[in-house]
Amino acid sequence: MAALYTGKEVDTAVISKLYPTRSHTGAAQGGIGAALGNLEEDHWEWHAFDTVKGGDYLSDQDVVEVMCKDAIDIVYELEHMGLPFDRTSEGRISQRRFGGHTNNKTKKAVMRTCNAADRTGHMILQTLYQQCIKNNVNFFDEFQVVDLIFEEGECRGVVAYEILTGELHVFHAKGVMIATGGWGRVWSVTSNALTLTGDLNAILLRNGYPMEDMEFFQFHPTGLHKLGILITEAVRGEGGVLINSEGERFMNRYAPTVKDLASRDVVSRAIYLELQAGKGINGERYVHLDITPETVNHYFKEDDARAVDGKLRSITAEYVQEKLEDISDFCETYLGIEPTKDPIPVHPTAHYAMGGIPTDVDSRVFSDENNTILSGLYSAGECACISVHGANRLGSNSLLDLVVFGKRGGHVMVQEVKEKEFGKIDAQKAIDKVQAEFDAILNSKGQNSPNEIREEMQILMTDKVSVFRTKEGMQESVAKLRKLKERFKSIKVSDTSKCFNLELLEAWEVGCMLDLALVTAKSALARQESRGAHAREDYTERDDANWLKHTIAFLNSDGSITLKYKPVTVTKYKPQKRVY
Ligand SMILES: Cc1cc2nc3c(=O)[nH]c(=O)nc-3n(C[C@H](O)[C@H](O)[C@H](O)COP(=O)(O)OP(=O)(O)OC[C@H]3O[C@@H](n4cnc5c(N)ncnc54)[C@H](O)[C@@H]3O)c2cc1C
Repeated sequence: MAALYTGKEVDTAVISKLYPTRSHTGAAQGGIGAALGNLEEDHWEWHAFDTVKGGDYLSDQDVVEVMCKDAIDIVYELEHMGLPFDRTSEGRISQRRFGGHTNNKTKKAVMRTCNAADRTGHMILQTLYQQCIKNNVNFFDEFQVVDLIFEEGECRGVVAYEILTGELHVFHAKGVMIATGGWGRVWSVTSNALTLTGDLNAILLRNGYPMEDMEFFQFHPTGLHKLGILITEAVRGEGGVLINSEGERFMNRYAPTVKDLASRDVVSRAIYLELQAGKGINGERYVHLDITPETVNHYFKEDDARAVDGKLRSITAEYVQEKLEDISDFCETYLGIEPTKDPIPVHPTAHYAMGGIPTDVDSRVFSDENNTILSGLYSAGECACISVHGANRLGSNSLLDLVVFGKRGGHVMVQEVKEKEFGKIDAQKAIDKVQAEFDAILNSKGQNSPNEIREEMQILMTDKVSVFRTKEGMQESVAKLRKLKERFKSIKVSDTSKCFNLELLEAWEVGCMLDLALVTAKSALARQESRGAHAREDYTERDDANWLKHTIAFLNSDGSITLKYKPVTVTKYKPQKRVY
């Protein structure tokens, strides 16, 4: 979205380590939230309140208001670009229920999430890519950015590794936007693609710039058993229910009003507690997600769930198949089950980074806890922290965040770069710095396997820094991560060739993830409260008196971490206890 807006007016390059339409956005299933009110009453103010409540009051409320207000126009803008949304019978954009999105008066789930079957992200990505091509944006596909160039406190470009040739290139720029997505690969069970390794977040940390609220990492309640592959919340939005080994719809106990459509942190904790209580199916560590029409229609009756026309709702196997086609495919491919006939085995999976690069409402990057603007640098999307999602993101608010703040950032970049000359850079120095880092890996005589280090980090983070956390677990993680970082200094890669040396790049990514894991564990250890996705067994309550603030974490050159804090912006929604 940012490239589209800059591409219309200034020379723009998109650099991606993937073929761009293979970005993780293409995997987003459920949809994009906007209070269009196409099927029932809705208002952007309700959307804003739900976002703040879902974020457990850590969201900056001024930026939430901007996002939820802009949401409506931006969905229509995407529609006018050609995005094929599902339709209502009157031909308007169709909307479905999603976790934490409510009618603020009745407190019941509201239909707010616009979708194109269960391939909404794919459609957004394809639509924007086509628009970029039309507007002469230059794409550098399969170029991996491995450093940023800073001179005189300003970002003036990037160094990228051409994956095909192993050549290093300098891109000299008047403005750089980072939109590199999340880093779910820090955990062993994740919904995230292999490439989500947080490279640019680590590069910024290494250059002395901070990350915000890294302790808040979302676990999505419904990943496929063992694999972690995402089963969209839209399954519950369409009526699917979670069932334990006793055949009980246990969300009745944890969230009596919205039940299975409580926010993700609440549902993930509920599943975890059911598993701890021995109520996993067949004694194993998963529960059932049931979207079989028989079960769904039974609970629709029990809930007295009415459709827009006032009639009692009911669904058919054909309806499920049409609305959740990809999900049905995943279940058949990976587990050999048909979701219209059998329940789906699920457990929480590492999913989304609420924290990241601190930015303002126009995607400019902050360099410290005092909100000092870092000239020349912008960031939007999952890698950034504006912060709209606070301590826990609502489903369908990420796709929204990308397009709203991508567009705003694009606008501001155009204005700012037009008034600028190219700043001086030393291209050779920038290349030599990266070359030295890569040579150190390639020529290392060490014996440690980067794959083993990655796996140990992932298991550690999944065991100790996940749905529930304790002081001891996080202390152990920090200590072990430091040891892993030591071991990483003497790794061995066997492939030393230039062409498509993915072994080298993957090893380099392990180094990035170790830094992010350490900052996450350290930030989490310091926060002595439970809020949103950060749930501690030793500090079980939210503590607004001491912790209604954002963490700003710096990685020092000696490997130590400095934590600072900045206030949360509260406008009209005063922090209250969350009840779903
Ligand atoms: C399975 C799944 C389903 C989801 N469903 C939904 C949903 O229904 N609704 C919703 O709102 N959200 C959903 N989310 C979340 C949402 O999809 C993501 O947060 C969002 O798509 C991230 O977009 P992005 O543009 O920030 O990054 P991405 O789409 O991940 O793109 C990152 C880009 O950066 C590039 N890149 C990264 N590192 C480098 C580097 N070093 N050099 C060069 N290029 C680099 C990549 O190649 C890629 O092109 C889902 C997420 C997942 C994983």
